[in-house]
Amino acid sequence: MEVNCEGCAGCCMDWRSLLEDETGSAAARDDEDATENDSKQRHRRQRDPFGGEDAKSSSREPLDDDPTFVPLTRDEVRAFLEAGMGDALTPRFWHARDEAEGVEIDGVSVAAVADRPTFFVGLRKPPKPVDPFGREEPTWLPTCVFLDPTTLQCRIHESELYPGECGAYPEYTLALARETECERVESAFGGDRLLEADHDDLDGMLLGPQAIGAKLFCHPRPADLEGVVDRAAAGELTRPDRAEAIAVAAASSPGTLATSDHHYDRAKARLLGGEDAESEFADDESWIGPAIREWYQRRRAAGEAVPSPAVADAIETDRGAPETPGWDALE
Ligand code: SF4
Repeated sequence: MEVNCEGCAGCCMDWRSLLEDETGSAAARDDEDATENDSKQRHRRQRDPFGGEDAKSSSREPLDDDPTFVPLTRDEVRAFLEAGMGDALTPRFWHARDEAEGVEIDGVSVAAVADRPTFFVGLRKPPKPVDPFGREEPTWLPTCVFLDPTTLQCRIHESELYPGECGAYPEYTLALARETECERVESAFGGDRLLEADHDDLDGMLLGPQAIGAKLFCHPRPADLEGVVDRAAAGELTRPDRAEAIAVAAASSPGTLATSDHHYDRAKARLLGGEDAESEFADDESWIGPAIREWYQRRRAAGEAVPSPAVADAIETDRGAPETPGWDALE
């Protein structure tokens, strides 16, 4: 696999709004409206989490609207928690395909396994000012918490926390014969992004039943998600909402529906603090939570204005975010 990522990061952000800027015309918008559902399917880094290798498309729509969601494994979720980076994580739930497989919560039939609502855990995308694809002016786009807006490089690329799903992209997508973000960027903005693409390796993708407890998590107490599902669909998850799902993910056991009370309580303490946390995790506050909060505050206050991506130095780097090398250093 060979890709040209310089000035891109299309798989690390939601750049759909740029497509509207590019096309602009009423005809183009009509066409987009007509194919909205199809487009949303194609434009989403997600697979049917219940399907096997033959599952070419999902009929289960996520409750959220992130087209490039990065699902993490149980071990990766635990690693982020141990690093004090739980604020980077968020769950994804799906609408059930039919009543038989769903559990009703907040008036929504949520996809479930054995009456347990299922979900992924992935990375949050606060709004950041970015100028990908050779654009001269920055734009506010939902952008992975770990993407450095100044270089469009990943802050954890060389770290042990770098998600396996990011390292495997776009191989997994190609292996499923689906269009990659690289190809979509080429179509919309030109250039060569996907330089070599002859992969068909599905190893490690965790499709079907083997995903349960490893990447696809099942909540044992659906009643605990009341209100959470509503807020997930509205894009208004709170810290306790995220903590409830993330703690179950951290407590899961690959290949089973079992969860560990010990790991659940430990994860909750990591995420929300409390008496247990005060002594053990008191010094764990990372740059992530404060940075995300400031990005959202700045976005609300900015109105139509878009600051330079360099404001990330004050928001992220000065709080301890790892710096990125820039592209010159890699040549
Ligand atoms: S972790 Fe890094 S590579 Fe993965 S989506 Fe975020 S910025 Fe991109």
